[in-house]
Amino acid sequence: MTGLKGLADYHVHTRRCGHASGEANEYVNAAKAIGLREIGFADHIPQYFLPPGLRDPGLAMEENELGDYAAEVLENRSANKDIVVRLGIEADFAPGHEKALNEILRGYPFDYVLGSVHYINGWGFDNPEQTGGYSGREIDDLYREYFGLVRQMVSTGLFDVVAHPDLLKKFGYRPESNILPLYEETVRAIAAAGMAVEVNTSGLRQPVKEIYPHPEFMGICRRYGVPVTLGSDAHNPVEVGRNFEEALVLLHGAGYRESAVFENRRRTQRALP
Ligand code: ZN
Ligand code: FE
Ligand code: FE
Ligand code: ZN
Repeated sequence: MTGLKGLADYHVHTRRCGHASGEANEYVNAAKAIGLREIGFADHIPQYFLPPGLRDPGLAMEENELGDYAAEVLENRSANKDIVVRLGIEADFAPGHEKALNEILRGYPFDYVLGSVHYINGWGFDNPEQTGGYSGREIDDLYREYFGLVRQMVSTGLFDVVAHPDLLKKFGYRPESNILPLYEETVRAIAAAGMAVEVNTSGLRQPVKEIYPHPEFMGICRRYGVPVTLGSDAHNPVEVGRNFEEALVLLHGAGYRESAVFENRRRTQRALP
């Protein structure tokens, strides 16, 4: 797997979220075994946008666990001299809750913040238990709403990377009309905000069987000069770096020669293999 040498996987979870397995050190060891240069933890942020009584321990860690999470990742950084360990977070975007999110983000030395739209008006559209929500809804309207939320997220300035940019396709619901203007409007907002996008291989393990984002979205990102990170969205140590060969094919095909690296929320570029 020497083809992965020098790459960074910036999207892995741990058992803390309640639906992944494996401790942080197991993810680090898996990353070392396949020759990654960096591994970045991006566990799900506590559900700050819900009242404490309504938070689901099967979707994200509790707020009082964040300190332990950060400490554990930083311990793994100190304990490993042969791989770079980054402290990230996967933060849900919840309109109207920006202040609460900002408070949380300020409290920890994150290297980067992945921004994720997982909800449309409270509906968890990527949750396998809530797929009933797709029936009776106009898919094109959903795409407009989804990418509208992505642009709103981007405009807050609270996030560094747009995670799984076209997550709405997860269960195979594709836009019916021409989606390119919506892609372009979204990528233009991402570029204007100086953010990066994530190439997330977990879509290959879902019904859509496709990396996020779609090659056409990727090509528009390239045209606007939007930097990229790679993420497996591993929820088990064996998934670290999964399908990164395919991610490289997608990136090379779009004309990318570099990917982004984050430290203390500052971005630099590094050549792709
Ligand atoms: Zn998860
Ligand atoms: Fe996500
Ligand atoms: Fe994730
Ligand atoms: Zn994710």
